[in-house]
Amino acid sequence: MARLRSAPSANGRVLLSRSAKLLPCWPTTPCGWINPRGRRIPEPQHPYRDDFQRDRDRVIHSRAFRRLEAKTQVFTRRFSDHFRNRLTHTLEVAQIARTIAAQLGLNVDLVEALALVHDVGHPPFGHAGEKALDAAMRERGYFFDHNLHALRIVEDFELRYAAFRGLNLTFEVREGIIKHSHDYSASQFPELAEYLLDQRPPLEAQLIDLADEIAYDTADLDDGYEARLLTLPQIRNGIPIFDRFYREAEQTYPHAIEKLKFNEALKRILDRMVGDLIRNLQNGIKAAGIGSLEGVRACPHRLATFGPEVDEERRGTKNFLHQNLYFSAALDPEKNDAGRVIRQLFEFWMAKPESLPHTYQEKTGQEPLPRIICDYIAGMTENFIYEQHEKYCGSQ
Ligand code: MG
Repeated sequence: MARLRSAPSANGRVLLSRSAKLLPCWPTTPCGWINPRGRRIPEPQHPYRDDFQRDRDRVIHSRAFRRLEAKTQVFTRRFSDHFRNRLTHTLEVAQIARTIAAQLGLNVDLVEALALVHDVGHPPFGHAGEKALDAAMRERGYFFDHNLHALRIVEDFELRYAAFRGLNLTFEVREGIIKHSHDYSASQFPELAEYLLDQRPPLEAQLIDLADEIAYDTADLDDGYEARLLTLPQIRNGIPIFDRFYREAEQTYPHAIEKLKFNEALKRILDRMVGDLIRNLQNGIKAAGIGSLEGVRACPHRLATFGPEVDEERRGTKNFLHQNLYFSAALDPEKNDAGRVIRQLFEFWMAKPESLPHTYQEKTGQEPLPRIICDYIAGMTENFIYEQHEKYCGSQ
């Protein structure tokens, strides 16, 4: 896809640089479709930052955001200092999502806020940590869900402002935290009723999950190859679109070293997915005759999807990563740690809640003990959870 430089004009339409290929403009700008519904606690307008810009900045200044630096995405630092952690993954998602949003004339600041906050609810140790924490909760009749946990962080746990608990984010950012990746049923989650669960979220929220997948599919191939857990022939055989782009890179750069041709192929996959998402979303909106946020909300399906061909490639890549990387024995030590460390600490604090920090002990009247322990563990970095485990569980 042609690289386009764009900026919203006075009427919100996307202007393109002279060398760029013209994309169809929106009949009315989707950016103007979003009008913030406001915050739980009203605040005066800032003199030069709008609501979504302030939300983005509040996320960046939160502790939960900074802790992402010491949380695993897929690979820990045992493999290399160069691999993505959850913070750098988040920045890649934000970069991809911003590009898509700008090209579509969506609200880039809202998209950036949503991308930056999308993983703050993840516990230590990546998906293995999430699984272990959920298992510990289910044994006690509860469950763990990282989107719901992210909402609790921004609504309650972050303490930065004298006027309120949490970050007091706009409705649209809180709604996006809940609805960016899947739908929650109103009957199962009555406490989320304010988030219009029978309606689709705005396009800004819909595209986050796909930007997330574009980011991690390509990054995991890259890190898997760098970690030598995936080989070039294996990837070329397993992912036809990668093979096609690698052959193109070989023709264009016959003297380049393998890793640079690998990078070229990967970059073209990323570009292909982003371009396809933009085109497919534009076509879907036009085909459905949607011209307002109400139209997006009332649509029976999500409009942000890949086209059938790229979606098939996406599924193939995901399957390849599941079969060849995510369940690789090389990643077992961290997964085993996740299960062992979380389970033992959970059991320890269930037996000795008086060893929890005072701020958590104070919640015992308001929340069940497993939820308090779960909240505490979910917020931990990997450095901190290992320290806690050493302190309370010794060398078990
Ligand atoms: Mg993510």
